[in-house]
Amino acid sequence: METLNKKIKNEDELLGLFIDVDGILSNTWLPFLHPTYNEVWATDGHVIIRIPPERLNKQYEPTDGCERLKLPTVEHPCSKSCTLAAIKQALEACPLVDEVETEEYEEKCEECDGTGMVEWEYTDGKMKTHYHDFDCPKCGGDGVIMHEKETKTGKKVSDEDAIIQIGAALFRYRILRIVADALKMLGADTVNITANEPYGMTEFEYDGIKIGLMCITADLSEKISAEVKLNEKK
Ligand SMILES: [Zn+2]
Repeated sequence: METLNKKIKNEDELLGLFIDVDGILSNTWLPFLHPTYNEVWATDGHVIIRIPPERLNKQYEPTDGCERLKLPTVEHPCSKSCTLAAIKQALEACPLVDEVETEEYEEKCEECDGTGMVEWEYTDGKMKTHYHDFDCPKCGGDGVIMHEKETKTGKKVSDEDAIIQIGAALFRYRILRIVADALKMLGADTVNITANEPYGMTEFEYDGIKIGLMCITADLSEKISAEVKLNEKK
């Protein structure tokens, strides 16, 4: 395959597909330079893109503790390929579900009447009563309770949880959607599959850029909605 090896044009958009700004781990908030691998990584903890720094226009810094992150060992390297068209076809074959919008709204806490405080009393052995104000245990002192309201928009969207088989491994729709969007941005038609372990990592490689994803380890083979067939490389 021809190596283009050019600078990536839309790097913010591309890396932005992979990060998770609301994630628990700080390593998912921003793309960072991994000093051990000398690659820029962007990951949400489920899917990762790895790019040689010289292919990017911006400078990236290592994040705290990022050197502790290690790639899983691939026991059986794979040398197959698949097309973006095949991935898109599998995504399109997944079932549709009702689109739901979640709205948050707050309601005054009945327990503390919106004050956030409750008075607790304690009667000691001499029948003397002691009073003390505490944060309301029901609303945590906020005076309001958050509720979520779900409404159907009337539109149908692809089921993000649908299961797609790629070669030997299973993945969720939402993960493969990220891969498809990234490959499209990179202008990739055909990608190499360099790992495809049934209980481990599957890795896509295109033009020196690697996208790794962890498969579903539960046995959900009855629930497969679509399959991406891998091609043997000639
Ligand atoms: Zn309250």
